[in-house]
Amino acid sequence: MAYFDNNATTRPCEVALAAHSEALSEDWRNPSAPSSAAARVRVKLDLAREKLAACLGVSPGTVSFTSGATESNNAVFSHISRHASPHSRVLLSPVEHPSVREAASRYFSGRVDELPADGSGIVDPSTLAPALDATQVALVSVMAANNETGVIQSWDEIAGICRAHGVPFHSDATQWLGKLPSSKFDACDYLSASAHKFGGLKGVGILKASTEVSFIVGGEQESGRRAGTENYPGVAAMLAALEEADSFGETPTLEQARNAFEESLRASIPGIEVLGKNVPRLWNVSALLMPRFDNLRWVGKLEKIGHEVSTGSACATGKDGPSHVSAAMGLSPEQARRVVRVSGSRETTPAEWSGLADAFRLAYAELQADSSSSEVVSI
Ligand code: PMP
Repeated sequence: MAYFDNNATTRPCEVALAAHSEALSEDWRNPSAPSSAAARVRVKLDLAREKLAACLGVSPGTVSFTSGATESNNAVFSHISRHASPHSRVLLSPVEHPSVREAASRYFSGRVDELPADGSGIVDPSTLAPALDATQVALVSVMAANNETGVIQSWDEIAGICRAHGVPFHSDATQWLGKLPSSKFDACDYLSASAHKFGGLKGVGILKASTEVSFIVGGEQESGRRAGTENYPGVAAMLAALEEADSFGETPTLEQARNAFEESLRASIPGIEVLGKNVPRLWNVSALLMPRFDNLRWVGKLEKIGHEVSTGSACATGKDGPSHVSAAMGLSPEQARRVVRVSGSRETTPAEWSGLADAFRLAYAELQADSSSSEVVSI
């Protein structure tokens, strides 16, 4: 099966599996235990924190290990709400992940505003300063890159504007890390990420917080910020994966293979559209608005012919209504149900991208044949 759903999760990379296995067999002790063997695990955990902080360009004292981006995002809003004025508001891009949107609504009920965005879902940084001047803002949260479309936000420019206004800035960098250079995140006061999106394992993530946060109580782990026995093997795997991903640097050939796939589809499937085609996007994603057929039918048909792809998001499957990202990009609910997302990885070869284009053409032919035969039957 050719795997094209890397924005949902990546296959753990070899270096991560090796680091995990070594830590599980050698460094399995509780880092808080008093033995000298446990102290060695504690030292390794802190060394991993320093190295991860170096990858992100941030100070090690600001990095906490969490169970993933969902926890990190929730922690940010819960922490800010405890310290913010009860009248202050939070500003979000309209295309944030549900773990940002719903955390914002829970902790700032009735005090959440969406920043205006263009037809690609991109927040125009010039709209921010007037919004910050007009109201008391406790936090601005704009993701680095979108999970459904790969569209990149000007998060660094937005961070600078927030800093100039003395307003904390959070970025959910879950889809950015491991795909683009990660060393400039000192510009963000808060940052969230998940290891399994860049070759690490599920259940491990990062929260960078430039202020003292305490979000899970009941122990002194993580300097009292997040209670609970630390998952050193998971952290070791995350570090190995991020260091490896960063070592690849920029790889224009990956983007060329994805672009060739899109061109090939546009030439052979009339009416297909690529969301975010003309704006900066991650090199691994194509969000395709198909001319016909619900995305679940595409996903099922492509899987039968050996290709694992996804809908725009789990919310766009028709079950829970259309995705808020598609809506923010001006798609109707009916169009949103025709969005298919494919997401490759560094390991995806040009031949696999071209095989995927062939699979789409075959799937389209079969879907058209299925629908015309069902039309005949229904007559
Ligand atoms: N933010 C973004 C942008 C994501 O893509 C995801 C995963 N789909 C998350 C947050 C949540 O990550 P996790 O499920 O690993 O907590």
